[in-house]
Amino acid sequence: MAEKQARRKRILSGMRPTGRLHLGNLVGALANWRDLQDEYECFFMSADYHALMSEYENPAAIADNVREVVIDFLACGLDPKRSVIFRQSDLAEHAELHLILSAYTPISWLERIPTYKEQMQQLTNRDIHNYAFLGYPVLQAADIVLYKADLVPVGEDQLPHLELTREVVRRFNSLLGRDILVEPQAKLTASPRLLGTDRRKMSKSYGNQIDIADPPDVIRKKVMTMITDPKRVYRADPGHPEECNVCQYYKTFSPGEYDDIARKCAGAEWGCKDCKARLADVLIEYLAEPRARRAELEADPGRVRDVLADGARRAQAVARATLDEVKEATGLKAL
Ligand code: SF4
Repeated sequence: MAEKQARRKRILSGMRPTGRLHLGNLVGALANWRDLQDEYECFFMSADYHALMSEYENPAAIADNVREVVIDFLACGLDPKRSVIFRQSDLAEHAELHLILSAYTPISWLERIPTYKEQMQQLTNRDIHNYAFLGYPVLQAADIVLYKADLVPVGEDQLPHLELTREVVRRFNSLLGRDILVEPQAKLTASPRLLGTDRRKMSKSYGNQIDIADPPDVIRKKVMTMITDPKRVYRADPGHPEECNVCQYYKTFSPGEYDDIARKCAGAEWGCKDCKARLADVLIEYLAEPRARRAELEADPGRVRDVLADGARRAQAVARATLDEVKEATGLKAL
């Protein structure tokens, strides 16, 4: 208890390393994580056990993707001096606690999670009819409770997962008669919902994303293919900026320009080509700093290795202590 009062509130979050991160990841998560570092003790992981769930047929790419994700973390301002940045599989504690918590998780709790069926339907390019997919919310629970995280930054759609973690914690503590695990709270993050260039959810599996690592010419090319207001057929037609994805990007990346852009669109004062060309400039500028940091990190391969080694060491100090408590409470530790 004294230990809990002495420390700052703790946060755990992670991303599955399935490739380079994109603008949606940046505005939806990384920008928030960057700000949370000032106030909280943060643990950020590249969740490669979770990646294996869907990438098991092509696992060779996972290690490279971990590297890419960590480079994106660092390029977007996560600071390894202030936060613990680590790779999930560097700590066997995650797998071990997952196994232990699975004994405390009724199958029906997993089957009722709304995203379970949804993802089954959406991820058509992967066969995820495996045990890991059903059990991944238990692994998520293990990820969180290993660090006794007080808060987990989540969007609304992730709330059911966190609720599962909270239920598992309550059941575990209640069955064992003591408060061993910490029940995490949601830290709802305000993040703009950024659609992909084709107006669907931004996702690598749709190929509609703008990557943080994209060079300027690629950004420009992708922006110029963006689907605009479908009701604006001719240059002389007035547009509907509120319905246009391009205009929503202005809202996020250049809010000061938004009113002017919306007015020019609604009054048919300029064409979509001009509008997109300007947006490309905005995004190229927005990503200039992460791009420069990326270039430095790519030129220094040892840097990412060092960050991960240090992160694993610091994460393990916390994770091991929790796992020891859990094993002792569940009769799995030598007396
Ligand atoms: S002018 Fe811009 S905001 Fe208006 S419809 Fe075209 S791309 Fe969209």
